[in-house]
Amino acid sequence: MYLILLGPPGVGKGTQARFLVEELDAVQLSTGDVLRAAVREGSELGNTAKKYMDAGELVPDDVILGMIREKLEQLGDRSVIFDGFPRTTAQAEGLDGQLDELGRAVDTALELTVDDQVVIDRLSARRVHPGSGRVYNLIFNPPEREGVDDVTGEPLIHRDDDQPEVIRNRLAVYHKQTAPVADYYARRGKLVKVDGDGSVGQVRDRIFAAIGR
Ligand code: AMP
Repeated sequence: MYLILLGPPGVGKGTQARFLVEELDAVQLSTGDVLRAAVREGSELGNTAKKYMDAGELVPDDVILGMIREKLEQLGDRSVIFDGFPRTTAQAEGLDGQLDELGRAVDTALELTVDDQVVIDRLSARRVHPGSGRVYNLIFNPPEREGVDDVTGEPLIHRDDDQPEVIRNRLAVYHKQTAPVADYYARRGKLVKVDGDGSVGQVRDRIFAAIGR
């Protein structure tokens, strides 16, 4: 099964992906997490990606699609939850092409919708455990102990691109380049929309209902 999570930054894709991973015995593939790991390692991919990420711009499609090809090979026939990918119509077309070569196809694109102001409020309060990608929210979903990850006890960070100025640019990029991806899947009869405004549990229940779980 190939399920795509669409929606603006901060809508809760990463958080909800974790529930879906468990429910569907799938693997989460977050291009943002892969890129951040590459930046930390200082690899060639990381060095290329960093300047785009710091500005809240998208990393070029060919770089992302190369990364996806490698990951799909590694994952074999595991089910995949894509989180933060595809971000452009060209990426959606590229993914369809790669899956087609493997005799596979995207099953569902699930779009989480929410107002921009909710995104700004959530991302300003978001904290992340860099090692695992686990996300917290200081207001709705705080860690048990302030400033540290529940599982490892390691420090949480406030991502550089979760600062207000960069958030605004990421939202602008989302509306211009990524919103058309939802239309791409709608035209193919694969789009399911879910209201992303609510508690983590409420949104999870809506998602499971929408995919018949
Ligand atoms: P995210 O964690 O998904 O919000 O991604 C953080 C940043 O990584 C984005 O602002 C982009 O710079 C970059 N990025 C992540 N996924 C993609 C993608 N599929 N296409 C292009 N850039 C991406």
